[in-house]
Amino acid sequence: MSTAVVTGASRGIGRACAIELAKAGYDIVVNYVSNAAAAQEVVGEIESLGRKALAIQADTADLKAVQAMFRTISKEFDSMDVLVNNAGVVDDKYLLMLPEDSLERSLDINIKGYFHCAQNAALKMMRKKSGCIINMSSVSSVVAIPGQSVYSATKGAVNAMTATLAKELAQYGIRVNAVAPGFIATDMLGQIPEEQKAEHLRSVPLGRFGEAEEVGKLVCLLCSDAMAYVTGQTIVMDGGLSL
Ligand code: NAP
Repeated sequence: MSTAVVTGASRGIGRACAIELAKAGYDIVVNYVSNAAAAQEVVGEIESLGRKALAIQADTADLKAVQAMFRTISKEFDSMDVLVNNAGVVDDKYLLMLPEDSLERSLDINIKGYFHCAQNAALKMMRKKSGCIINMSSVSSVVAIPGQSVYSATKGAVNAMTATLAKELAQYGIRVNAVAPGFIATDMLGQIPEEQKAEHLRSVPLGRFGEAEEVGKLVCLLCSDAMAYVTGQTIVMDGGLSL
């Protein structure tokens, strides 16, 4: 049986990735940080699709917690085939109003957290000489949005890390790609004031925000054999926003 680990899978894009991967036949590890009830709901949904699922609480910024999570995964699941590095935070702040703790939290979760999980997952994938890592980036890595200097820096780092890890891990049969969504209707988008949201909407040529399920389907496709020759890429999915 194939197993996929999705970080930040209790809500939003991570939840959609978990469900789409379950539909594609994967057993799923539903990682979350604080919302146990939401994670358990996702587990229930996956089980109703006939797949095994386990919710594991771990702050991806905390290396020891991530190591403990992967130890549990080894005990509970036979294989490690897909990692979706998705858990991320946004905290829009203009440069001169940027508190140190916000800066550190974004760097810790959006960059260090991805490395922690990639390291632990790659170790297992290298042994069986196959695997697929998907890093959730953002269109903010290629389009400048005032107030998002930290967020865009973290997502730019994700794109760069994706290309380098793809080159490093190709010899072990591991593909690494990133998905860079535009505005997707999740709790994260809900943090933006309505006026600003309307302005963002006007900048999307397709005239709507994306759905988390659409990102989940793209992640699933990237993990499939149809994409067996694709690695190191950042696929932008933004309704034309960056054009
Ligand atoms: P969201 O609705 O805010 O959900 C965030 C998820 O991440 C939750 O499951 C949360 O768990 C989890 N999480 C947060 N910090 C964590 C940590 N330290 N360790 C483990 N899990 C953690 O976010 P989203 O909109 O789905 O975004 C998911 C990813 O897509 C992020 O990387 C984001 O940057 C990216 N993205 C989003 C958009 C968008 O418009 N929504 C656009 C481009 C890129 P709890 O439920 O337990 O809190």
